[in-house]
Amino acid sequence: MRRLPLVGLVAALTLTCCGAASAAAHDEPRTSYAKGRSQPVKDPVYPAYGNPSIDVLHYGLKLAWRPERRSLAGTATLTVRAVKPIKEVRLDFGRALKIDRVTVGGERARPRRKGDDLTIPLPATLAADKKVRLVVRYHGVPKPHSSGQLRPDLARLGLRSAADGSAWALQEPFGAFTWFPVNDHPSDEALYDVAITVPKGWAGVAHGTYKGKSVRGRAVTYRWKSTDPVASYLTLFTVDKYRMHRAKGPRGIPITYWVRPGDRWALPTVRRMPELIRWMEKKAGRYPFPSAGLVATSDSGMETQQMITLGGPYLTPEVVLHELAHHWFGNSVGPRTWKDVWLNEGFAMYFQIQWSADHGPGTMDSLMADLRRQERLVRAEAGPPGDYRRDYFAASNVYYSPALMLHEIRKRIGDDRFFAMTRAWAQEHRHTSQDRASFTAWINEHTGEDLTELIDAWLDSRTSPES
Ligand SMILES: [Zn+2]
Repeated sequence: MRRLPLVGLVAALTLTCCGAASAAAHDEPRTSYAKGRSQPVKDPVYPAYGNPSIDVLHYGLKLAWRPERRSLAGTATLTVRAVKPIKEVRLDFGRALKIDRVTVGGERARPRRKGDDLTIPLPATLAADKKVRLVVRYHGVPKPHSSGQLRPDLARLGLRSAADGSAWALQEPFGAFTWFPVNDHPSDEALYDVAITVPKGWAGVAHGTYKGKSVRGRAVTYRWKSTDPVASYLTLFTVDKYRMHRAKGPRGIPITYWVRPGDRWALPTVRRMPELIRWMEKKAGRYPFPSAGLVATSDSGMETQQMITLGGPYLTPEVVLHELAHHWFGNSVGPRTWKDVWLNEGFAMYFQIQWSADHGPGTMDSLMADLRRQERLVRAEAGPPGDYRRDYFAASNVYYSPALMLHEIRKRIGDDRFFAMTRAWAQEHRHTSQDRASFTAWINEHTGEDLTELIDAWLDSRTSPES
C-alpha cells in the first residue's frame, strides 16, 4: 500500500455461466492448480475474515459491470481443497449482493448467509486434500465495507463506484468479499482467471496479465490471468474509460498502462516503470512475475498484483517505486497473517527511501534522520509495529519502524552483505508466505549474525530503540 504522506441486461448478454459447472458434475476438478496451493491459517489480528479449513486453488470470475446502474453481475467458479475433512464451505461474501444460484460439483446447493458470511453445505463430507468445484451466480449493487479503521483511506474497503458509473475495488487488509465470494485472507493465495464485461467505450482492468478483449454486440470483455498465486487483498477490479498503452520491461516483459484521456499528464511518470523495475532488480533480483502494469485511478492506490493502482497526487516516481517494491516484498514473498504487515511495508519503505536518496535532493542519512524523528511519534500513537492497534491498520508505524530496523541491520553488516540479503530473501522465498519467525531464523542463518534481539526490540518495544 502507498505510504502515508511523509509529512441486469449486460449480464444476460455475456455471462454464460453453466458450462464449467455441468462439465465438472460429480467429479473432482481435473485441473490441479498446484501453484494455488496454500496452508491457510487463522488471522491473529482480524480473525473474522478467512477460513483456515479450506484452501481455494483457483478463482474463475466472470464479472459484468453496468455503469448506468452501478451494478455488478458475477459468476464465480471456485476450486476448493479441503484442508481437513469438511461438511460445508464457509466463504466471505458481501451481504449487499444477491445470490441467484449455487452449485457444488454441478448439483444445486442451498447456501446459508449471515452478515458477510456465505456457507455452502456439501452433499457429503469432503476428505482432507480432496477438491470440489463451487459455482456462485450473483448480482446487485455492491457496497464498500465500513471497516472502522482510523486510517482515512481504509475506512471503506472493497468495491466503490462513482456517480459517473466508474468503479474500483481496493481492499487491504480485507474487503474482496464486496465483489466476489472469497476466502479473504493472505495465507490462502490462489490462481485467477478474470473476465470483465463492460459497455463499449469502457474498460475493465484486473490483477494479473492482460490477455486481450473480445467484442460482442455493444459489450466488450477484458480478460486477465494470474499464473502465480495471488492473495485476495492484492486482487483488483476497476472499470472506467481507460485507454491502454503498451510498453516492455526487462527481458521483454509485457507492460500495460491504463489511463483515462483526462489523465494523460500522468503518462511521463507512468512510462518510467521499466526503469524503476530495473532499479529494483539490482536490489532484489529478478522481477518475480511475467507481466507488469499500472492503472491510473481517481483514488489513492496500492500494489495490486501485476497491475499497480495509483491515482492523482500519488502518481509520482517514488510511490510507483514503492508499489513495485511490494512485488518482491509482499506480493511474491507474502505475509502469512496481518500480524506481519511490517514485512511488506518495511522493505517497500526502505527501497523507496533508497531510491529517493539515489535521486536527490536528500541523502540516505538525512532521510533516515527525518524518519527517526517521526517514528517516535507514530510508534507512541499506533503501537509497536509487531503489535499494532487493530483499529489502526497500516499506520506509519509499520512503515517507518521496520525501515529503521533494516537500516540498523545494514549498518551492522555493511552495504554489500545487506543488499545480498535483500536479494536472497526475495529470491529464495518466491511465491511463499512468511512471518516474523521465519524471517528472523533465515536472516540469522544467512548473515551468520544473531539479529534476534535487534529485530525484537524494533518490532515490540513501546518506545523507539536507541541506535
Ligand atoms: Zn506499501
